[in-house]
Amino acid sequence: MTEGHETRPALAGKGPIVTQVAVIGAGITGITTAYKLALQGLDVTVFDRNAFSAMETSFANGGQLSASNAEVWNNPATFIKGIKWMLRKDAPLLVHPAPSWHKISWMAEFVLAARSYEENTVATVKLAIAARRHLIEMAERENIDFDLEKRGILHVYETKAEFDNALRVNELYRKGGLERRILDDREIHEIEPAIAGRFHGGFFTESDFTGDIHKYTRRLAEACERRGVAIRYEADVTKLEKRDAGRVAVFSRRMGTDVPPAREEFDAVVVCAGVASRRFAAQLGDRVNIYPVKGYSVTVNLDDEASRVGAPYVSLLDDKAKIVTSRLGENRLRIAGTAEFAGENRDIRMARIKPLVDWCRYRFPGVSTASIVPWAGLRPMMPDMLPRVGRGNAAGVYYNTGHGHLGWTLCAITADTIAAEVAGDFAAPGVAVQGELKPVDAVRADAERITEAA
Ligand SMILES: Cc1cc2nc3c(=O)[nH]c(=O)nc-3n(C[C@H](O)[C@H](O)[C@H](O)COP(=O)(O)OP(=O)(O)OC[C@H]3O[C@@H](n4cnc5c(N)ncnc54)[C@H](O)[C@@H]3O)c2cc1C
Repeated sequence: MTEGHETRPALAGKGPIVTQVAVIGAGITGITTAYKLALQGLDVTVFDRNAFSAMETSFANGGQLSASNAEVWNNPATFIKGIKWMLRKDAPLLVHPAPSWHKISWMAEFVLAARSYEENTVATVKLAIAARRHLIEMAERENIDFDLEKRGILHVYETKAEFDNALRVNELYRKGGLERRILDDREIHEIEPAIAGRFHGGFFTESDFTGDIHKYTRRLAEACERRGVAIRYEADVTKLEKRDAGRVAVFSRRMGTDVPPAREEFDAVVVCAGVASRRFAAQLGDRVNIYPVKGYSVTVNLDDEASRVGAPYVSLLDDKAKIVTSRLGENRLRIAGTAEFAGENRDIRMARIKPLVDWCRYRFPGVSTASIVPWAGLRPMMPDMLPRVGRGNAAGVYYNTGHGHLGWTLCAITADTIAAEVAGDFAAPGVAVQGELKPVDAVRADAERITEAA
C-alpha cells in the first residue's frame, strides 16, 4: 500500500486485513484520536513535523479541564468589551489592524454565530462534562502522571456588573448540567487563602480539575506506540490527496530536507493538525475555517519555600483580566491568557507577557517571579467556537480539529466520537454517508446523546 516507505506489518494478532488510518498531527487531539483508534483495533500511523508530540499549541497552555469555561465568545457583550479593549495596549484582546481575507471572513462568521450563542454554550458544557471520564480513564489505564490537581476551579469577580453577567452565564451552565457554588468574598479566601484582593463574588466548580497537557500527551503517545501505533516524528506533511476507491494519500518528507515527498496511501485520514487543518481541509475539498488565535502563558518556577506557600493550588479564572492559573505539581505555577489576532505568528512579545507577570505579583504577592518561562501558542479556533468532528466530503476523510480555547478540556470526548465513527464506517462499509461534516449539528447531537445516556 505504500510508496516511498516500507509497508508496515499488520498489528500483532490482527491478521492482514486491518483498516489503515493516518492521523495528521501529534498534539493533544491527534494523540487522543490515535489512542482511541488503536483501541478500536485499527492500524494507525501518526504524522507530525516536530521531533516530539505536543510541541505546538498543546505545549504550555492554561492547564484547565474546565466545563466552567465553556462559554463561547460570540456574545454581543463580549463584542462591545472587545472594541474597548482594542484601544488598550495591555488588554486581554489584541486585533492587529493589517486586514486579510481570512481574518475578515472569520470575524464576519464569528459575529453571525452570536445567534447560536446560548445553544453552543450549553452544547460545549455537556461535551466538557462528558470528556472528563474519558480523559481520566486513559490516564488510569496507562498510568500517566500529568500533575493532576482535583481541587476545582474558582472564578472571581471584582465588580457587581461582572458578577451579574456571570450569573446569567451560570444559568446556561446549569442547563448543561454543571453544578457550581456561588461564593462571597470570605468564602473565596477560605477556598484559596493565597489570593489577594477584594471580590464582589465568585463561583466554585468543584468537579473541574487541572493538569499538564504536555506531560499527558507525551505519555499517551508512548502508550500509543506500545499499542502498535506508528508515530512518524519530523515528518512534514506537504499534501493530502483523495485517491480512487475511497483511499487517501499522505505526502510527507523528513523535516529539513528537500527530497521529493514520499506518498503513502491509507483507507482513512483523520486531520488533527491544529491551525494547519484549514489548509489540509482545502486540499481535500472541505472548508474548515480555523483562525489562529494567539495566547500566551508564563510558567513560574516556585524555587523557594515562600513562593510555594504563596502560590495557589486551586485553579483560578480572573474574569476581568481573562487570566487562568493552574498549579503544576509543587514547583510550578502556570498563568495563561490573552487573545491576539495576528495570523500564523508565534513570536513571544514581551509586552504581552508583562501583564501576566504583573497580575501574578498583584494577586499572589508571596510568589517570586524571578524565574519564569514565557510561551505563546495558537488556538485553532472556529468562528462558532465548536470543534469540527466528523466526516469530510470525500470518502475516507475525517476531522477532529478546531477546539479553540478548550482543546485540553474537550479532546477526550471528540477523540472517542471520531474513533467510533471511523471504526463503524469500516466495520459496515457502504453505510457511511460522506459529506456529513455538519459539525455544529454533529457536536450538538453528540452532546444530547451523552446527556441522555448519563
Ligand atoms: C495560551 C493558551 C491557553 C490555553 N488554555 C487552555 C486551557 O486551560 N484549557 C483547555 O482546554 N484548552 C486551553 N487552550 C487550548 C488548547 O491548548 C488547544 O485547543 C489544543 O492544545 C489544540 O490541540 P491540537 O492538537 O488541535 O493542536 P496542536 O497541539 O497545535 O497540534 C497540531 C499538530 O499538528 C502538527 N502539524 C501541523 N502541520 C503539520 C504538517 N504540515 N506536517 C506534520 N505535522 C503538522 C503540529 O506539529 C502539531 O503538533 C489554550 C490555548 C492557549 C494558546
